[in-house]
Amino acid sequence: MTDTPRSHGRKAITPSLKPRDLMAEERLAGVWTAQVITLFPDAFPGVLGQSLTGKALKDGLWQLETIDLRPHGIGRHRNVDDTPAGGGAGMVLRPDVVGAAIETARKGWREGPMPLIYLSPRGKPFTQAMARSLAAGPGATLLCGRFEGVDQRVLDHYEIVEVSLGDFVLTGGEIAAQAVLDASVRLLPGVVGNAESLDEESHSSGLLEHPQYTKPPVWEGREIPDVLMSGHHGEIAKWRRAEAEKLTQARRPDMWAAHRAKKP
Ligand code: SAH
Repeated sequence: MTDTPRSHGRKAITPSLKPRDLMAEERLAGVWTAQVITLFPDAFPGVLGQSLTGKALKDGLWQLETIDLRPHGIGRHRNVDDTPAGGGAGMVLRPDVVGAAIETARKGWREGPMPLIYLSPRGKPFTQAMARSLAAGPGATLLCGRFEGVDQRVLDHYEIVEVSLGDFVLTGGEIAAQAVLDASVRLLPGVVGNAESLDEESHSSGLLEHPQYTKPPVWEGREIPDVLMSGHHGEIAKWRRAEAEKLTQARRPDMWAAHRAKKP
């Protein structure tokens, strides 16, 4: 094991985006914190190290810590999984191993308890409202499953909330964790330069976003709609609103119905 006894598999993804050993006391106080419990800490920051979320990580607008499941494993081989009780295919992550990793995470909760989330296809579908609620809190501790998932007892014991990325099955929770973090981090103050762009987006206003265009004015014989070139802000806003409503009605009857129901 390369991990020191003190680090318990915890690594901070530092401003240089290079993982290093992290002691709880080195963490920035009061900064939105993501803790990711995973068998694959090298998968982080992954795409979160790019562009706006990556710059924000460098600038200390949020911080990321991975907690490696492996050093919490059992025996010389640091086993983390075993065969399913009752038989069947695959392997299940052991509750004692996952529990020990959660205890390591909890030692790093300096601002009080953090939401504890297990990325899972059985979970509540992730939404913009959940991203908003996470962004408004101190951060999140995200548990990434692998194989057939996690022993149920550890989920019950810690009252872990299961969150799903959608009705499909991934091989592991890491991609889902990055999606949840991306959606949450971009709502933190200062991460997205133009805060107005956040309000007008799909899923923020309860409507899908209107079509977007940029230069050149004509491409493959297709023109930008005249109204967008008119400079008439009132007309542009009206057109965008009408397009957003048309699109939502056509593509997402469920969202459209909810939107209509909200109107007085
Ligand atoms: N046997 C499980 C699936 C395990 S998939 C079942 O049928 O419910 C392996 C891991 O990938 C899961 O533990 C979970 O962490 C992650 N995962 C798979 N699909 C996901 C999804 N739609 N959303 C979030 N996480 C998912």
